[in-house]
Amino acid sequence: MNYDVIIGLEIHTEVKTASKMFCSCANRFDDPANTNTCPICLGHPGTLPLPNKSAIEKCLLLGLALNCQINQHSKFDRKNYFYPDLPKGYQISQYDLPFCHHGRLAISPDRHIDITRIHLEEDTGKLSHSSSYSAIDFNRAGAPLIELVTEPVLVNAAEAKHFCQHFQQTLRYLQISDADMEKGQMRCEANVSLQIPGSWLYEDGQIKATSDQQLNAKVEVKNINSFKALEKAINFEIERQSKALDQKQHISPETRGWNDQTNTTVSQRVKETQADYRYFPEPDIPALIIDETWLTEIKNQVVELPQAKAARLASEYGFSRADAELLASDTLLANFAEELMSELYEWINSTGDTWERQKNTLVKLASGWLTTELFKHFKINNESITDIRFTAENLAELISLLYQDKINSSAAQIIFNQMYQVGGDPSQIMIDLNLEQLDNDEALSEIIRSVLAEHPEQSSAFKAGKTTLMNFLVGKVMAASGGKANPKTLPDLITKIINS
Ligand SMILES: [Zn+2]
Repeated sequence: MNYDVIIGLEIHTEVKTASKMFCSCANRFDDPANTNTCPICLGHPGTLPLPNKSAIEKCLLLGLALNCQINQHSKFDRKNYFYPDLPKGYQISQYDLPFCHHGRLAISPDRHIDITRIHLEEDTGKLSHSSSYSAIDFNRAGAPLIELVTEPVLVNAAEAKHFCQHFQQTLRYLQISDADMEKGQMRCEANVSLQIPGSWLYEDGQIKATSDQQLNAKVEVKNINSFKALEKAINFEIERQSKALDQKQHISPETRGWNDQTNTTVSQRVKETQADYRYFPEPDIPALIIDETWLTEIKNQVVELPQAKAARLASEYGFSRADAELLASDTLLANFAEELMSELYEWINSTGDTWERQKNTLVKLASGWLTTELFKHFKINNESITDIRFTAENLAELISLLYQDKINSSAAQIIFNQMYQVGGDPSQIMIDLNLEQLDNDEALSEIIRSVLAEHPEQSSAFKAGKTTLMNFLVGKVMAASGGKANPKTLPDLITKIINS
């Protein structure tokens, strides 16, 4: 590829509030069509909008969490355009004084993405088309919507996807939105342009042409309803524009829609410029002043974000960075992991051993059960951490049983499976299912003696030096013990008995 790829994102997020942005209608879209509506959100003449404090708070919370500067003197503006899903003929949004601007979101330990602005606006209604008519549901009209705009600094489709995933986790951590893309709770649009290296520079938040160079236009891609689609749509656009430029074709500034069936983008319309919208201050809502006291209150609600949490899980407990990121992808899962580690910490200290000495072994065990086994069960059962039926204390106990060789790994799998399906205390499950490991005791010695007696040829051969028969004997003893022998200590015990 002979071009530099420049990507910026615009992300709309539905805010989880009880009521809509400017009226007291329920902020619920699943109810029967047009039941959550009133003269305000239907745009009847003479009605007056009243801003939703909780929605403003959530927008400010997001801005503060993403290190934005806050416009403490702010306002709403009218964005004028006609579309059937917009009953007022304009959308109340924010233009030159967004609540938040100039922020950043870390997407890895050494990469952060600059954020241009975060503002609050209202959603539109929802159109659905059939062959003979079109229907409209205004339940969504006037619902609060947060729009985030990044700087044009993303360099490829994978990074854009990565940003959206981190942003989604952040919204969930802050309890601003469930941000489910398939449900339209989070909608990503990508602005993609290709430039000749050396022909452009990034200055004051803008892509500018160097001296006598001409910039290629950017294309906006919409209708993206999954992370996968975002990545595919951007890659398609990069290839399409690159081919066109190779053939000396001109790229028109336009809005294109992603088509999931054909895996292509399709031209929808020529991109509007801001002048097309005739923005002006919303005359029905006075200017907003956000005082220090309120801002401090909101600042106190900012929680540790996913990247910071992953870094801490790695440094504090010794999880690998990859495991830490997986655990930090969900705040409930991260809490569960932290609780598990503190249970293990207390337990190992209570045994007279020290955390420092056993940390590596215990972290390795914990990582395995959390990131491999638990995720495997989530996947099979199509569940998540919210469905979990056992506590971190239960899992710590299972790990301690395994660590002390009271059970072997196949018994641990059986116990874990039972805990996962119906919950319960692992020691009790171990007793109920008779899974306690036989370790170096008389019952196990008895089993070994009878196995040796049943296989005199192999026993003699082993005694005469054919040590490769050990696997055979271990297998027989394991089977005879119903899988309860400890395969780690078994060879020593067999050797001892055979030579006695
Ligand atoms: Zn309403």
